[in-house]
Order: sequence, then structure tokens, then C-alpha cells
Amino acid sequence: MLQSIAGSSNAIEKVIHGEELSFNDGLDLMNDENVFILGAAADLIKKKLTGNTITFVASYYLNYTNVCAASCPLCAFYRKGTEADSYTLTIEQILTRAKIAIKEMKATELHIVGGFHPKLGLDYYEKMIREIKNEFPSVTVKALTPAEIHFISHITKNSVKEVLSRLKDAGLDALPGGGAEIFSKDIRDLIVRGKCSGDEWLDTARIAHEIGIQSNCTMLFGHVEEPQHIIDHLTKVRELQKKTGGFITFIPLKFSLDNTELEQKGLIQNESSSIYDIKVIAISRLMLANAMKNISVYWVALGKKMAQVALSYGGSDLVGTAFSEEIFKAAGKTTGTSIQELASLIKDAKCIPQQRDTFFNIL
Ligand code: SF4
Repeated sequence: MLQSIAGSSNAIEKVIHGEELSFNDGLDLMNDENVFILGAAADLIKKKLTGNTITFVASYYLNYTNVCAASCPLCAFYRKGTEADSYTLTIEQILTRAKIAIKEMKATELHIVGGFHPKLGLDYYEKMIREIKNEFPSVTVKALTPAEIHFISHITKNSVKEVLSRLKDAGLDALPGGGAEIFSKDIRDLIVRGKCSGDEWLDTARIAHEIGIQSNCTMLFGHVEEPQHIIDHLTKVRELQKKTGGFITFIPLKFSLDNTELEQKGLIQNESSSIYDIKVIAISRLMLANAMKNISVYWVALGKKMAQVALSYGGSDLVGTAFSEEIFKAAGKTTGTSIQELASLIKDAKCIPQQRDTFFNIL
């Protein structure tokens, strides 16, 4: 089997022999390579890095507000503050949810993200994190994507470093990886409106890593991107990871179409095919082979069955239980599962399930 994979293309041979793939190698894989060969090679690299184990975290999603100053065409979640179904949680409401998550659902991580609220000050976020950590010191607070941090810095007129340092002092443990979307400006400008640029996202992640806050990193695919935009994104992630080592995992996120402006304006008719999805996941694994140990498969966006398939295409982690997820729910996806269900999905795929913490320590 290895011989037949190795005979398939220069890029596949290179990656199997431990060489880093160039931008052009990545493009060749996106354009020409057979998806089954890609899968076999990605599975080989995955097994080298993480064996037959598939991890997941017990994670509670806390979306503190859906009010957003931006209006991204890719998003079904945001509301203007005047809309009837807009909401912003008080610190007391957040603590009540945190208690349910930790005491009843046994979450070890709170994944806290929201819209770009134009009126919340830095003190809201500091108080939220400090009070959660005071009451539940053992929970990991993974809060505020680099895009949110960049917005908070802009609106509060503090530097990104100042914002991150103050949140770290309040107890922030890690950043989620959202808001990266696709870094290339020409595509980014079509899918987001009012969000930081790709360079600003990367710069914010870099500053976080430099002051000791690790983060995840995502890539939104399956909308209007072309192969070069995928490879450009992966190359930029790899470059930053080589500098800082601060990314915990890379999460290729399939775009969810329902209720978005991209759907309503007819700019995208259908979500991407499953073949394309597993191809992007496999190529992510191959492009990041020497830089990133973990590739996470976000089952909420992909669906549970395709997520199982993706575990043979380079995926080494199923992200988490996503208790109470709201963002993909707004775009028509089923969210939330149990530790038992994730473990059984992994066992059905003939892999070994292991519960982890946010930083991939096995529990
Ligand atoms: S993707 Fe984020 S920043 Fe853009 S509109 Fe939605 S909530 Fe706001």
C-alpha cells in the first residue's frame, strides 16, 4: 500500500519522506490528486503523529451575545442590538450557565465566543473570566477569538497586547480559533464585512502566543474559495506555527449555508460536496505535517457520519461535545452531543477514543 501511495505524485512522495510541501505542491494536490490517495497519505501521517487514538474534549459553548457591529455575509448568528431576538448575557447568567456546564454536564472547558458587541467594555470580559475562575478554578476558559480580541482592542482603544495581558491576568487560559475564515483578501472581502483582515488575525494570534496564551486555528472552506486560497491559508498558518508553536490544533471548518446572506442573495446555492470536504481535511494534514500535531474535525459543521469518515483522512480529534452551541445551530446544524456518543462514533471508526483537556493532555 505504501509503495502504491509513494508512486502517486512528487508531493505525496515528499510528504511521506518527511519533506515540507511547497505552495505549488499543495496546489498540485488540490488540483490533481486522487482523493483516496490523499486520504491514505494523510492517514499515514496522522498515524505517525498520533497513532490510532482520536481525542475529544467535554466542552460547553457559551455564546455571550449575538449582537454584532459586523455583518458578515457568511454568518447566520448575528443580530443588530435593536432586533427582538438579540441578547447579551449578564455575568450572573454566564455564571449560572457555567455552573450547569461544569457541575451537571461535566465540561472541562468553557468555549466562550460571541458577536462584536459595540458597547461592552473590557471590564465586562475581565469580570466574566475572573468570576468564572473564582467560582470554578479547575475549568479551562478558552474565550474570545483573535477576531474578537482585535475588535475589543479597537473599540476600547487599548493595544491588542494590553487587552490580552489584562484578560490573561483575569484568568484567560486559551483562545478559540474562530474568525480566521480565509486569509486571502480577495475572498475574505466577499464573505466577511466589518471583521479584521487576515494579517490582523494572524498578528493577534502571534501576540497571544508571545505572551503565553495558546490558541486554536480554523479555516472556513466550502464557500467561494479556490484551491490557491486554501493553500495560502495553510501556508500562513504553518509559517506562524513555526515561529511561535502556539497553535494547539488546526480545525478546517466546513461552511454552513442556511440563513446566511450568501444563501439569501443566491451567491452560493449549495454546500460543498463531501468529497471536497475530506480532500481539504486530508490536504490540511499533509501541508501541516511537520508543523502541527493535531488536525481537528468539527463534526457540528461536517455532520457526525462524515466526521467519522474524516478520521481516516487525517483527522485526529473530534473537537468536543459542543454542549449548547448556537452559531452553527443558527445555520441549520444539529449541535450538542454526549461524551458517550463521541466515544462510540470513534470506536465505530475502529479508533481508540480518549477524552482530553483543552491542551490535548489525556484525562
Ligand atoms: S461572523 Fe462573527 S463578526 Fe461576522 S457577523 Fe457573525 S458574529 Fe459578527
